[in-house]
Amino acid sequence: GAQATEVDTVVIGSGPGGYVAAIRAAELGQTVTVIEKDNVGGVCLNIGCIPSKALINVGHKYQEALREEENTTPFGLTSKDVALDWAAAQKWKDEKVVKQLTGGVAMLLKKHKITVIKGTAEFVDNETINIEQEDGHQLLQFNNAIIATGSRPIEIPPFPFGGRIIDSTAALSLPEIPKHLIIVGGGVIGSELGGAYRNLGSKITIVEGLDHILNGFDKEMSDIIAKRVVDAGSEIFTSAMAKSATQTDKDVTLTFEVDGKEQSVTGDYLLVSVGRRPNTDLIGLNNTDVKLTDRGLIEVDDSYKTSVEHIYAIGDVVPGPMLAHKASFQAKVAAAAISGAEDAVDLHVALPAVAYTSTELATVGETPDTVKDRMDTVKISKFPFAANGRAISMDDTTGFIRLITETKEGGVIGAQIVGPGASDLISGLALAIENGLTAKDISLTIQPHPTLGEAIMDTAEVADGLPIHV
Ligand code: FAD
Repeated sequence: GAQATEVDTVVIGSGPGGYVAAIRAAELGQTVTVIEKDNVGGVCLNIGCIPSKALINVGHKYQEALREEENTTPFGLTSKDVALDWAAAQKWKDEKVVKQLTGGVAMLLKKHKITVIKGTAEFVDNETINIEQEDGHQLLQFNNAIIATGSRPIEIPPFPFGGRIIDSTAALSLPEIPKHLIIVGGGVIGSELGGAYRNLGSKITIVEGLDHILNGFDKEMSDIIAKRVVDAGSEIFTSAMAKSATQTDKDVTLTFEVDGKEQSVTGDYLLVSVGRRPNTDLIGLNNTDVKLTDRGLIEVDDSYKTSVEHIYAIGDVVPGPMLAHKASFQAKVAAAAISGAEDAVDLHVALPAVAYTSTELATVGETPDTVKDRMDTVKISKFPFAANGRAISMDDTTGFIRLITETKEGGVIGAQIVGPGASDLISGLALAIENGLTAKDISLTIQPHPTLGEAIMDTAEVADGLPIHV
């Protein structure tokens, strides 16, 4: 057989887990090799977070322009001949947004003298990886490995991907804007892509198995989104069971069951977004002593070390929510652990999550659900954007900020935001929770006026018992 090349630290995958681990390990003195079978940047930059946000942005701009054309803005703005060049929007997403970011990652890897090998990695044993490449294969013998191979959409038997039955990747690059997009699975990915296409002009039908869409956010929050979707003429079926689909070359019909009654709906595309599975099945882990959980995730300790001393795993392949910033944080912990550096143990308390729906949802730390057994020791405080000057001047007053504090010292332990700028505003509250700040600390911090961020201060004043604006 071929001779194995000896390497120091090898990282499999170059998504927000892999590329961050590689850079941090290089900064901490390791010689790093990254193996990537596709483009650098992983799901997130190529077919996930970034291109989806680009399309969401186009949808918002288009809706604004349409309102101007209909002369229904309150600002007295009118536009004429509003038109969307879908091919141009796609080109911007692919060739400007995605390419700029993946090119940036490639440049950073190069700057840190990281070797990138294009190919598909598979473990041969606890010390060796085989890389299948276009023109052959090679073996690497490593001192340390970090597995960051991410995840892929779950395909379920009644809905094999192909033709008009699509996964999130195909949904990001459709040849046309659907007239009617049917979505099985109203989680974050389904709801975000549905929201983007709804703003781009599609009718949307969401079929969700649970009792509310956007599971992971509470019903009070997701109801605000659901109401917007339904008010705009789209449909949401909850507690609904998707059963089968038939497609022709023009359309696709989904059959589903609600309240024991079978129904069907016909549209031009069917997006199946029922979750993602970790890429742990095709990387030769059976040739190693790396242990998996019963859900096929890699078992790790709080330094992201697997059951094999010198093999680490991070991101979507380990337990926890499948989020880019989770992958990147774990990457830095694992790189530090390999290098014997500081911060080699994950001690974080707050992991924020966002849904980039038409009105954004954001959460960090505890929620009303997670504290419901200790309501006598916590306080839940709310402040509406309708009482915030900046929101009113933006004509966007939907939603509220909710703060969960400990009754005793006022420590902030959780926060949720529905409303304008929720995705950016939540970072201040993550900082507060991570650093043990109290509602008083927040209310004693001066915020610039007029800003959406003042609503955080106002919520803290509610928690502190001395509200000004409600
Ligand atoms: P990935 O990004 O999946 O990267 C894994 C990499 O490993 C890939 O490049 C893959 O090609 C490579 N690879 C796999 N197997 C091998 C192998 N055997 N050999 C070599 N290379 C291999 N998260 C957020 O936090 N915010 C969002 O807004 C968001 N939006 C999303 C929207 C969509 C449509 C989707 C699908 C996901 C979204 N996510 C979002 C989730 C996010 O993309 C993932 O959590 C994140 O990409 C996980 O990072 P990772 O590094 O673990 O893996």
